[in-house]
Amino acid sequence: MPVDVLVIGGGVSGLCAAVECASRGRSVILAEQSQHLGGRAYSFLHMETGDIVDNGQHLMLGCYHSTLRFLRTVGTIDQLSIQPSLDISFRSTVGRYRLRAPLLPSPLHVFGALLRLGSLSWRDRLSMLRIVPALLTANPRTDADLLTMTVDQWLTKHGQSLEAKNNVWNILSIGTMNERPERASAALFVNVLQTVFLGSRRDASIALPRTGLSRLFADGAASYLQEHGGSVAFRARAGNIVVTNGTVESVMLGQTRIEPRAVVSAVPYHAIGAMFAHGSRSALPLPERMDRFEAVPIVSIHLWYDRHFMEDEFTALLGSPIDWVFNKSTTAGRTSGRLMHLSLVISAAREESTQAKEAIVAMADRELRRCFPGASEAALRHSLVIKEKRATFSPSGDIAACRVQHATALRNFFIAGDWTDTGLPATIEGAAQSGYACAELADGYLGTASQGQE
Ligand SMILES: Cc1cc2nc3c(=O)[nH]c(=O)nc-3n(C[C@H](O)[C@H](O)[C@H](O)COP(=O)(O)OP(=O)(O)OC[C@H]3O[C@@H](n4cnc5c(N)ncnc54)[C@H](O)[C@@H]3O)c2cc1C
Repeated sequence: MPVDVLVIGGGVSGLCAAVECASRGRSVILAEQSQHLGGRAYSFLHMETGDIVDNGQHLMLGCYHSTLRFLRTVGTIDQLSIQPSLDISFRSTVGRYRLRAPLLPSPLHVFGALLRLGSLSWRDRLSMLRIVPALLTANPRTDADLLTMTVDQWLTKHGQSLEAKNNVWNILSIGTMNERPERASAALFVNVLQTVFLGSRRDASIALPRTGLSRLFADGAASYLQEHGGSVAFRARAGNIVVTNGTVESVMLGQTRIEPRAVVSAVPYHAIGAMFAHGSRSALPLPERMDRFEAVPIVSIHLWYDRHFMEDEFTALLGSPIDWVFNKSTTAGRTSGRLMHLSLVISAAREESTQAKEAIVAMADRELRRCFPGASEAALRHSLVIKEKRATFSPSGDIAACRVQHATALRNFFIAGDWTDTGLPATIEGAAQSGYACAELADGYLGTASQGQE
């Protein structure tokens, strides 16, 4: 019996597409070229410590509605810890402060959070409030100004001082877009800020996994698919897609030829073109400027110390090459006993991704000792550095023209992935939204195709 939907790629976008198609009663095959699901969000066992380690810390938000919907469906939502409302701690050598929303309705909670930022002068705090009316009136899809400006230019236009940029905006920009503010698109940043700050109070809350990423995203999804008549094919590289009369006719999964009624591609931008057979490639027009996608690395550093010197669950580091420190022991509910496991993140790590791992560990250890008074007595027991060279695409101003729609010139072929035209930077939520959108399109196509046969 022919399968209804073939989903190619087992990252978050593919998992969402496959689960949603299965929940609509469609038969699904999810094909993944590697031996694990999750794509760029996965975890594995660190043999030396017995801890589960993520390929990179993933920070999510209350406004990740599609992601939360997916986790609810596959039954792992309880493995995500969501703050009641926005609360971010910042730390430097001179002290700590918090961006914390007071108990006010949205969007007044944002005004309140900015006004309570004790580390900044009153003048800077009041100038930060100018961002709120700018957010209320901006349209990131159509404002010509926004579409051509960088984040840094936009912040300057709205009177943000160097202190306000360095202490708040740049951290949020790099943290959410994995790109320096001098390069990142103002339109994408404004869309992120509108989504986070102008929605419900909970939209701005930080959400952190309590478990490894594979357990959070992949395991529940694989079980869900099996329970709903779907299947997962591992080490199944899709290729040789043959197109006939504007429709995908067949796809090779390794050595096996299948004829799905609809196909959702959930592979990255650099993999989609190569999946088509020689004579069929031109049937799918992709933007000419696809080569403008630039990969941006993230370097993750896992460190295990013999004592617990960090109280917060996570903190941003100011004036340091390290952007964020996450206390994995606290998140897992282990605040004493065993080793303290910290996960450090360097975003937009073009330079660091070329450095020797030993040098990165030495730098990270130095930075922790500099910023955490209690670290001076601690001994570093284990370390692990993971360089993800293609973590995200650069959200630069001209990238909008390269992002593709989910529906394509091929009637039964749909494109998901964080790089499609979601209006968001490369994120879990962009991936999830694209997966749901493609599932809806594929389901709609199958419904129409069945009616045509009646
Ligand atoms: C270190 C790191 C940290 C990050 N931090 C955050 C964060 O804090 N918050 C956040 O929201 N996002 C974060 N991201 C980004 C987020 O992980 C990605 O945006 C998201 O996982 C992308 O999902 P995707 O499904 O679009 O693509 P992918 O995860 O890349 O999945 C594509 C899948 O397709 C498979 N594939 C490719 N070609 C074929 C083929 N021919 N046949 C079969 N399978 C194929 C690949 O093996 C892969 O599994 C981070 C990413 C990294 C790497």
